Amino acid sequence: MRIVVRNSSTHTLAELTEREAVALRAWYGNASSSEDEAIALAIIRRVKGMDGWIECDCLDGRHQPLLAPIQQERTFTLRRLTPKDAARDRHHERPNHALTCPFHVDKDADPALLDRCFHLRPLPRFDRTYIDALPAIPTRLAEVSSQDSARSTERNDRPSRLGGILWRMLEKAETNVIAPLQDFPNLTLGNQLAKLRSAARELRVLRTWTLNALMSTWAADYWDPDSRWQRLLATSRPDWPEGLRRTGFMLLFSAGISTQTIMPASSSRTIDVIAKVRQPLRGDPASRGPFLTLLNVDFQEDDEGPVRAVQAYAQPVYNGDTLFPVESGFERDVSHLLFWLQQSLFDAAPELRIKITKPLFASETPIGLCRPDFVLEVRYKDYPPRKLIVEAFGMETDEYRAAKEKTLPRMQHLGPIFGISPKDLTETNSGVTGRRLQEWVVGQVRTD
Ligand SMILES: [Zn+2]
Repeated sequence: MRIVVRNSSTHTLAELTEREAVALRAWYGNASSSEDEAIALAIIRRVKGMDGWIECDCLDGRHQPLLAPIQQERTFTLRRLTPKDAARDRHHERPNHALTCPFHVDKDADPALLDRCFHLRPLPRFDRTYIDALPAIPTRLAEVSSQDSARSTERNDRPSRLGGILWRMLEKAETNVIAPLQDFPNLTLGNQLAKLRSAARELRVLRTWTLNALMSTWAADYWDPDSRWQRLLATSRPDWPEGLRRTGFMLLFSAGISTQTIMPASSSRTIDVIAKVRQPLRGDPASRGPFLTLLNVDFQEDDEGPVRAVQAYAQPVYNGDTLFPVESGFERDVSHLLFWLQQSLFDAAPELRIKITKPLFASETPIGLCRPDFVLEVRYKDYPPRKLIVEAFGMETDEYRAAKEKTLPRMQHLGPIFGISPKDLTETNSGVTGRRLQEWVVGQVRTD
């Protein structure tokens, strides 16, 4: 990335270091450490001071996408300069960012609804134990009133922060792992929620309050001011600093969602959310549920009123017993096939152990980051375990397919790949596909 002269990007003012570029992308992608955030802020202030723009380097072509620093009172951010639809010819020199770049502008989809970076999430920051509460109300109101619609669409397709918190919890609790059947995994909704609760105990919202203490997994608590959860939130009141809103969290297994509503499985009532409910962008929206939903709540503008849901992220899951994350109805079908594979090989070869993992964050390879759809770890007797990759090639746009094809060579560094497409799982073909997958797995173990 470079700092260039405003409106004249051929003139370079300064080069950014690789570390600075990483920090900017991590900040924009909501995956930053506090060090990244400090670096990103320093760069934006510097560019603002130089009256320059930042030129990204995510494309191969001659023209690179541009970013302009913005200052609103004491808040700094970046605006993505892409041609407006009406003026597309005028600004041909302002291309969109590459699909894998966190600054990419999603034009077609409703940005508030979708998590665009599904195929390549950043590396998890396990050094961060603090998670974000809601900002204080006055700040939020100031932002909203000064925000024109263009600005809000620009900002909205950043990956969801709540999504990031949910994935960290799922990863810590290993809800994204189905243990080998030899270990007798006891999969029930109650067990899975208990594991997620202990993971939430290791995350902090404030120095004195863990995420677990401020989180309910019981939908009825939303309407019950006398619930233990709401009483704890009341107790926490003096501990909130001025810059933060008193924030509570709910982690709910939900049968369905709509644009601004959550239907918790344990209640006949629905929860209305102020912002649009976000979810991964994959596959047919009609077959995405059920979901595990993380939402945050405040207590109205005056911090005195009844609880209200502010934001929510809905992660599709295989079912309520496993809460195993999937990203589309098709991935749910592939998971079903993998669970069948695990059971059938357990019956046929009791000494073959198979662990199924749905990676929630990217893995590092020598040629870049990638995030396989599923990873099988197979182990026969005392032989060393082998990693096998299963990719779900669902019905996606050409653009997404191209992005995925780019990451396939990276995945080959992690292990051999077995691809599954929708035609492999039709009623007539699924039997053959199952046997082919069994043979492939057994063959991979034998090659050692
Ligand atoms: Zn870019």
